[in-house]
Amino acid sequence: MNIPPPLRGDEKYRDLLIHIESIPDVPVQWKGTPIESFIMAQNFGWPIQGSGKVELLISTCIEFRYALPIPRMYAYVIRRASGRVLGSEFSVGYTMAQGVKYLALIGHNDCGMAKALTNAPRVVAALVEQGWDADLAQQYVENQLKRHAINDELDALREEFIRLKRVFRKLLIAPLFVCLHDSKLYVPAWYDSLNTELDAEEPNAPRDLIENLL
Ligand SMILES: [Zn+2]
Repeated sequence: MNIPPPLRGDEKYRDLLIHIESIPDVPVQWKGTPIESFIMAQNFGWPIQGSGKVELLISTCIEFRYALPIPRMYAYVIRRASGRVLGSEFSVGYTMAQGVKYLALIGHNDCGMAKALTNAPRVVAALVEQGWDADLAQQYVENQLKRHAINDELDALREEFIRLKRVFRKLLIAPLFVCLHDSKLYVPAWYDSLNTELDAEEPNAPRDLIENLL
C-alpha cells in the first residue's frame, strides 16, 4: 500500500490547509480543550494523559495508514469509512450523555472512499463470497455508497462539519485534516469564518436534518 507524498508542497492543498507549527497556530476556540492537547500530541509528540473525565470524541476514517496517538482513558473514538459521523449519531448522543463536549472530526488525503464507486464491484464480490445473494449484495452496496462514498476528501470534511454543527448545536466541533505521509494535523482554511457563520444560525437543530436520521 502506497504512502502518499506530504501535504506540504502539494499544490492542491496550498491555500486550503493551515499547518500547525506551534501553539499559536491552534484556533483560539480550541485553546485549553482536549482538542488542543490532541493536536500537540499528534504534531509535536507532547504526552497526553488519560483521566477519568473523558470530554473528547474523535471521529475518523477506518484508514490503516493512520493511527491515533492517544492513550486509554482519553477519548471515545468512532472509526468509519470516510470518517464521517453520518449514521453514528446515536454514538455521539451516548458519549455526550457521558460528558463529551468536544468532537474532533478528522479527514485525510488519499481516502479509499473517494474511489468507492470504482471499488464497489469488489465489495459486492466480497459479500457474495460470504454467501450473500448477488442482487441483495448489489442493492446493499448501492445504498451504502450514498453514506460512504465521497468526491473530494476536504470537501467531504467541510460538508460533514456543516451538517454536524447544525445537528449538534452546542458540541464544539474541530475539523482536522491529517497527512498520511507523516500523520501531521492541519486546520482547513475555511474553519474560522465558516464556524462563525454556523454559530450565528438559529439555536435549534433543523427538523429535516433530524428526520433524515430516523
Ligand atoms: Zn479514508
